[in-house]
Amino acid sequence: MKATDREAAGALGDMSAEEFRRYGHRVVDWIADYLSNPQRYPVVSRARPGEIKNALPAAAPATGESMDQILSDLENIIVPGVTHWNHPCFFAYFSISGSGPGILGEMFAAAFNVNAMLWRTSPSATELEEVTLNWLRQLMGLPEDFEGVIYDTASISTLCAIAAAREAVPGLRVREEGLNNVESANKRLRLYCSEHTHSSIDKAAITLGIGQAGIRKVATDTDFRMDPAALALAVEEDRRQGWLPFCAVATLGTTSTTSIDPVPEIADVCEREKLWLHVDAAYGGSAAIVPEMKWMLKGVERADSLVMNPHKWLFVPVDLSVLYCRRMEVLKQAFSLVPEYLRTQMESEVKNFMDYGPQLGRRFRAIKFWFVMRYFGADGIKSRIRHHLELAREFASWVDESSDFERLAPVPLSTVCFRAAPADTETDLDLLNERLLEEVNREGKVYLSHTKLDGRFTLRLAIGNIRTQIEHVKLAWEELSRALERIRGEAA
Ligand code: PLP
Repeated sequence: MKATDREAAGALGDMSAEEFRRYGHRVVDWIADYLSNPQRYPVVSRARPGEIKNALPAAAPATGESMDQILSDLENIIVPGVTHWNHPCFFAYFSISGSGPGILGEMFAAAFNVNAMLWRTSPSATELEEVTLNWLRQLMGLPEDFEGVIYDTASISTLCAIAAAREAVPGLRVREEGLNNVESANKRLRLYCSEHTHSSIDKAAITLGIGQAGIRKVATDTDFRMDPAALALAVEEDRRQGWLPFCAVATLGTTSTTSIDPVPEIADVCEREKLWLHVDAAYGGSAAIVPEMKWMLKGVERADSLVMNPHKWLFVPVDLSVLYCRRMEVLKQAFSLVPEYLRTQMESEVKNFMDYGPQLGRRFRAIKFWFVMRYFGADGIKSRIRHHLELAREFASWVDESSDFERLAPVPLSTVCFRAAPADTETDLDLLNERLLEEVNREGKVYLSHTKLDGRFTLRLAIGNIRTQIEHVKLAWEELSRALERIRGEAA
């Protein structure tokens, strides 16, 4: 940096506008190059534990450093430690996208740097949140009585939903009395979900004092969907044994296999038993935007709450999760607390989003979502999601046609669960597939992850990055086939 830059900024104050402009252009150029060719990097970072820490000074610099130095260290130290989630060959976990418009929207969120806790503290942040969530609600085809609120992650959305479910139990008064009241009334709260539900449900139960013992995992069918008859039996049995059933979670797109729980039948049980029904559509919810996938949402209109994550499969950079709730007043009752210093004149006229969760401060997340929805439009979003569904079906067909691989779960969405199972192998299939995954990921061209299904080590290929095209999926298939050949060669 030239001395004049610092001088222009003065001894105090921020970077000068001139310097910001210069480096801003450079950073945007860097990002544009990065996004246009992420394949120059291995998808998974090859950093060893401690390598990044050791390359950095142990204490912050005493005097300011130049942006040139900072950007050079970014390139040389930080980038090698980045696993490239924005890479078109990222097929692990659930693959996500920081799209161009989403990244530009993030820049404005940082530039405005508003705290969207109250309507008054930035009306645009609150009202844009209401508008974008109403747009998304319509795109998904959710009924009008689903009101939305943005949190950082599905884990927090679900935590808040389960807190509301608990608040809705008559006479518990956990908000006022804490868990002591529940114990002294000899009531033990019970929450239901399937064995395939995401661990965020367990974490919510741990955090809310329901405890892991308060969760009952309901059996699933052969396609990994919750068995509603087993749910009904579990609730009955629990009531007999003195539990207080209060909530069930159904998932649209479970984490391991993307199975879709039968919401209408689960809703029947919930209505009969007066349980709060929370639907976890964190990943799968995006697919419901595509007309031919709307069937997924059957019965959801009877749910009390639903979470979906635009930061998973809707091209919005992390973080942005949406909780829809049909009983917003209960969610508010669970959390709202307005000290004098946060009181405003217009509480009856507007929404203050701080009232709907444990946090006060909130980022202006809606702006990146607004950019994404406007830039791609409903049709653009639909065609991109549809493309991912087609790519997954294509990959699944290669697995099905191969004599070396087999599929281990249906493919309702964009994730394929499979494993290598060559007829001639003498090796234990779990060991073989573990080795195969390691080999493929070590090569660094594609990144896959795994799960266990019915005790079997299972490979997962999840499609969801906006830049993924058929050639990237083909590359994954070639890498898997090549790695399998290598392993077989060694064994021979
Ligand atoms: N629910 C499901 C079905 C998921 O697959 C995940 C994460 O993959 C989550 C919830 C948690 O998402 P988040 O990271 O936004 O908390």
